[in-house]
Amino acid sequence: MTTDATTVADMLQRARSMGVERLDAQQLLAHVLARPRSWLAAHEDAEIDGALSAALAASLVRCAAGEPLAYVLGEQEFHGLVLRVNADVLVPRPDTEALVDWALELLAGALAPVVNPRVVDLGTGSGAIALAVRHAHPDASVLATDISAAALEVARANATRLGLPVSMLAGSWWGAAPRDRRFHLALSNPPYVAGDDPHLAALRHEPMLALTPGGDGLAALRQIVGGAAEHLEPGGWLLLEHGHDQAEAVRALLREHDFSAIETRRDLGGRLRCTGGRN
Ligand code: GLN
Repeated sequence: MTTDATTVADMLQRARSMGVERLDAQQLLAHVLARPRSWLAAHEDAEIDGALSAALAASLVRCAAGEPLAYVLGEQEFHGLVLRVNADVLVPRPDTEALVDWALELLAGALAPVVNPRVVDLGTGSGAIALAVRHAHPDASVLATDISAAALEVARANATRLGLPVSMLAGSWWGAAPRDRRFHLALSNPPYVAGDDPHLAALRHEPMLALTPGGDGLAALRQIVGGAAEHLEPGGWLLLEHGHDQAEAVRALLREHDFSAIETRRDLGGRLRCTGGRN
């Protein structure tokens, strides 16, 4: 690895020769040089000093090996918040913003009469959903749970850094929620990819625990829906993210458990991505 001074154009060329996607390479360069991405095109001849170019070269190696850019950068934007992430947590996806938008709509609509609504995010990972809800709705009292201690550490650090008070508890799905507290709104983006989904190979850098429960991919969704009645306020809502082909299965689960007002929403890509209903 050379540490000689190199230019923006050299570095983008090197990224291309390593098979790193152009947009990823640009974002990486922009991040390391602390410039907007638009600056790069106008400054292809700008020199990058030795230490920075060595760091960039090392980051390009990680990108070329298929690691998500968010891990390489150590951060990911989600619903207007910059979250720190590492390989202990799923990279927050723009798809999941649809779940947050729906939650905020309910808090401003059907749940608006509730003063200090209690919200829980089951399987919070980086804290993305819980923190985005608390950020947009400071009136809500938000609990985030995760079975992974390492993930909770990431979520706690994000909460502290963003100055967003969210309680965090360790445990599996409803197992982490206090028995003496009922919620007005429960949210979850659980693992839902089927165990034999070939798509998992491309996601190998992310925690498998957060991606798939094995089997048909529905085990975690079943547990969450099955336990909801004991933990939701009467009239409380449950909103779930799921696979693009699981909407009907999740709607059936909600019907089986006597939910009403069952609805499915699409993600930014137009796929059926979230289903929810009222207890
Ligand atoms: N939407 C993710 C993907 O397929 C999976 C997230 C999840 O299982 N919760 O890339």
